[in-house]
Order: sequence, then C-alpha cells, then structure tokens
Amino acid sequence: MFCPFCRHPDSRVVDSRTSDDGTSIRRRRQCPNCGRRFSTTETASLSVVKRNGVLEPFSREKIISGVRKACQGRPVTDSDLAVLAQRVEEIVRSSGASQIDANDIGLAILSPLRDLDEVAYLRYASVYQAFDSLEDFEDAIGQLRIDHHGAAGRTADGAGA
Ligand SMILES: [Zn+2]
Repeated sequence: MFCPFCRHPDSRVVDSRTSDDGTSIRRRRQCPNCGRRFSTTETASLSVVKRNGVLEPFSREKIISGVRKACQGRPVTDSDLAVLAQRVEEIVRSSGASQIDANDIGLAILSPLRDLDEVAYLRYASVYQAFDSLEDFEDAIGQLRIDHHGAAGRTADGAGA
C-alpha cells in the first residue's frame, strides 16, 4: 500500500501485533522514502450474503443477538454467547470462503448451540429450520436422545450428518 504522506509505493513493517480476539493484525509501517510511520490493519474479509442479496460484513454481535432470544430464561451467560459466536466464526471461516450465505450461518450456529443448551437449540432450530409440526420437534428431540446414548465415545467435532 502507498505511503499516506508521500504516496511512495513501498513500506517496511516495523512491528506486527495480533488483536486480542485474534481476527486482525495491526502492522506498524515505515516509509523508506519519507521515513514517516503509519499503521495498517489486516483482516480476512468475510461477508454475509443476506436473503435479499445484500452483502454485509460478518458480525459476532449479530450472531449473539440472533441466539440470545432462543436463550431467554436459560442458564446461558453473556460469555457463553461470546464463545458461541467465536465458534461460529471459526466454523464459517474454516470454509475459506470470503462470502457466506446467511442461511449457512444459521446452520453453523446449530451445533455449538446444541452443545451449549439443548432447550435453546430446539427453540432456535424450530425457527431456523421452520418446524411446523410436533413430529419435527419429536425428530429433533429423538436425535438429541440418540446422541446422548453415544455420548460416551463422542468426540468434540459434533459435525452431524
Ligand atoms: Zn512516505
């Protein structure tokens, strides 16, 4: 990137620091032409494609506010939600894509939410997967029961089928 002072096309990195949440890197740079210093922030871009086709930047806050409603009255703390949002971000970023459908984010929320609180999971899944009958709930609950039986040998991946 160009030096913001003299437009010199090259700069030297003098310091790099990862942000506390690990999602961005701040670099201190020095221009070899004019010697002045400036900072850049580097983030892997991740955009969400909404149903109406509009792109918006991925936001953990949006994940949290989307899930919070399903967690009402449940023993779920703000830090639980923060961890959940982080896991969701890891899941969607692991695909390597720079754009992700809002729908796929809903999907990525299900597994960590199930690990966090099964009642909140059922509430969220019933909206997100548009449960429209008791059978849908029974199927989801049945699946949870099956997974409980297999819990002894279960690993942490929780990817599902
Ligand atoms: Zn310069």
